[in-house]
Amino acid sequence: RTAQEALKRLTVDVPDWPEKGVTFKDITPVLADHHAFSAVVTALAAAGRDDHGNVVVDKVVGMEARGFILAAPVALALGVGFVPVRKAGKLPRESHAVSYTLEYGAATLEVHRDGIAPGERVLMIDDVLATGGTADATRQLIEACGGVATGASVLMELSFLDPRSVTGDLPVSTLLTI
Ligand code: 5GP
Repeated sequence: RTAQEALKRLTVDVPDWPEKGVTFKDITPVLADHHAFSAVVTALAAAGRDDHGNVVVDKVVGMEARGFILAAPVALALGVGFVPVRKAGKLPRESHAVSYTLEYGAATLEVHRDGIAPGERVLMIDDVLATGGTADATRQLIEACGGVATGASVLMELSFLDPRSVTGDLPVSTLLTI
């Protein structure tokens, strides 16, 4: 498939970044290529539709920072609103916060309390699923708002980090499994 081929062709492995022993998947060349960017956005958005092509989500959430770049065009493609999940201290109004462990270090994520209305169905979008901590924390934020996390849609899943042991029963769709 085009999106998967573009990801394979354009993603750059950066050894020992941001720390020794970690190989970072740099997806910026995918974004810099119009056809690749367009193909991956279309493929990510498929997780927000049913088998008939009907949109089945009310909101798209993107996780700071690369998730924003992908989630905003996915939200526009689906015809629903975009909600940012941000690192601690960035959101100006009343927020929910969840702390979690990630591949390197620890972090707190936040969402505006009124960003998601009770009962809304929410699709999560990010570039890479690594340990699964970010996706699981985001799911908790959606649920703290009273929303329903329908699933996560990501470009790449680093399966050797076993993220599904952290994301549990959350449906995850991935364009490429490493
Ligand atoms: P997790 O919480 O699943 O361990 O890490 C996922 C988060 O860290 C995502 O928001 C993702 O952007 C970032 N991340 C972790 N490893 C990589 C990587 O190799 N490449 C990219 N582009 N992002 C990564």
